[in-house]
Amino acid sequence: MANVTTDIASNEPLQSTELDALVIGAGFAGLYQLLCLRDRLGLSVKALEAGGGVGGTWYWNRYPGARCDSESHVYWYTFSPELMREWEWSERYPGQPEIMRYLNFVADRFDLKRDIAFNTRVVAAHYDEAANRWRVRTEAGETYIAKFLITAVGCLSTANVPNFPGLKDFKGDWYHTGQWPHEGVDFTGKRVGMIGTGSTGIQAAPVIAAEAAHLTVFQRTANYSVPARNAPLTSKFQQYIKQNPGEIRSVTRETLNGMAFRIEPRLAVGTPPEDRERIYEAAWERGGLQFRAAFHDMMTDKAANDTAADFIKRKIRSIVKDPATAAILSDIDHPYAAKRPPIDTNYFETYNRDNVTLVDLRAAPIERISAAGVCTTQAEYPLDIIVFATGFDAMTGPMLRMDIRGREGVALKEVWEAGPRNYLGLQVAGFPNLFTVTGPGSPSVLCNMPVAIEQHADWIADCNRHLREKGLERIEAQPDAVDRWVAEVNEAANKTVLPMATHSWYLGANIPGKPRVFMPYAGGMVRYREICADVAARGYEGFALS
Ligand SMILES: Cc1cc2nc3c(=O)[nH]c(=O)nc-3n(C[C@H](O)[C@H](O)[C@H](O)COP(=O)(O)OP(=O)(O)OC[C@H]3O[C@@H](n4cnc5c(N)ncnc54)[C@H](O)[C@@H]3O)c2cc1C
Repeated sequence: MANVTTDIASNEPLQSTELDALVIGAGFAGLYQLLCLRDRLGLSVKALEAGGGVGGTWYWNRYPGARCDSESHVYWYTFSPELMREWEWSERYPGQPEIMRYLNFVADRFDLKRDIAFNTRVVAAHYDEAANRWRVRTEAGETYIAKFLITAVGCLSTANVPNFPGLKDFKGDWYHTGQWPHEGVDFTGKRVGMIGTGSTGIQAAPVIAAEAAHLTVFQRTANYSVPARNAPLTSKFQQYIKQNPGEIRSVTRETLNGMAFRIEPRLAVGTPPEDRERIYEAAWERGGLQFRAAFHDMMTDKAANDTAADFIKRKIRSIVKDPATAAILSDIDHPYAAKRPPIDTNYFETYNRDNVTLVDLRAAPIERISAAGVCTTQAEYPLDIIVFATGFDAMTGPMLRMDIRGREGVALKEVWEAGPRNYLGLQVAGFPNLFTVTGPGSPSVLCNMPVAIEQHADWIADCNRHLREKGLERIEAQPDAVDRWVAEVNEAANKTVLPMATHSWYLGANIPGKPRVFMPYAGGMVRYREICADVAARGYEGFALS
């Protein structure tokens, strides 16, 4: 379907590919969106992917210890019971290589790769109002024209390397965990510095420490973590998964965060302290994100959350032998799970090793990187390797890195200058026929993401079917619906303790200059799914269809 058209940037005539729909990204979201639109609706669709293969997060994040925190039997697609029977997970939490194998298996099983252009980064997407088409340009200068544009660019795909002065002078090697070399990094005999103690740093530290001569962990924000208790899946559980795909899918659609566990109805505040301790102790032993399920009020009542926070802080102090180190690690300033709650394998135990040092950046911040290593206001730490476990420009970063322009050439950057504004996390007013999978304003990162992704991709596909059946060409979020939704997202967040972690990436606080807006929808996946279904049932209320 080659067409001659005009390059959006230079007005040069170029060969373009014209499609019904273009998907950006080939992670969990892009793969499933491609499948929905191509195989269920019969549209001409292509996906463009910056990486050299499928996998998204799991293609890029190959750092030591990279592993999923969702349990394997819920961290996958559930749209096909056959697919669920064909794949077998080996561990309670799948590691990065296993998830990559799974996503490649899915892509091959549904013959998706033939419609994906790899090593193809989208740099611009402009809406041509007269033609009602999106004109998309890649880094290499190819153009694509599509009626519908779907961004499946991920919430955590724009690596954030802090702008420390002097990094370019560093004589050693440095890596960001989200752009890890495919060939791996050999830490043997090396002095390694790791900056960042979020979920990633907490996964990586024990593995790096086991290999390196010395590991220095630079901690700005102390963090909670609960033992993952990873283990091989028993054949009995593997059989249960094969025999009950429908039940597994149903449970993930009935729980607040798309997980397989239900949150207990009991309240921490009303439970006698000794019973509460026993319940937390059992949750600690069971391990993983299920810790959050111990009490219903944990995320909505600060007093209840304090009981969980206090329990974990005491655990940290009981594990870490050096009292000074234990004090720095347990000096946590935000409610439990108000930042993304990490789970770990021997994280706090790692500080009992002779070859591990903790540096408290709240006492002495990093001033610069020197040729030899990291300099805080108090000392220089000589290093051979620096690992940046410093996360991502989350949620809006991957969208804003592209030059996306809607009606009258208005840039998304301008519309989102004070923070993301959209309707249902799915569409931005002024950007017709552009859909954002797991966009800000949807549950996304507060949910087990494959569940959120399937719901969005299904909704978008159903919407496309509806438009086709009604002979319609265009769908666009209405500004008043956007206003109402932004208010609802704020209200949902304010009913929880989530905004109390004022430095979290949920709020954009990890990126200098980024507006502080609580980005994901915190009202829960069940409610969100109902709202989206209701909007569709009312003839796409809040959208203009033409
Ligand atoms: C270390 C880590 C651990 C995680 N653990 C969990 C977990 O336990 N549970 C959970 O639910 N979620 C977890 N997540 C979130 C994870 O991102 C999602 O589960 C899921 O992989 C998201 O899939 P996606 O397709 O939406 O986005 P991604 O997997 O991020 O894929 C997006 C793709 O879009 C591509 N892309 C972006 N911009 C462009 C562009 N301009 N042009 C072309 N291509 C582009 C990227 O290269 C990427 O491949 C984790 C994330 C990280 C980083």
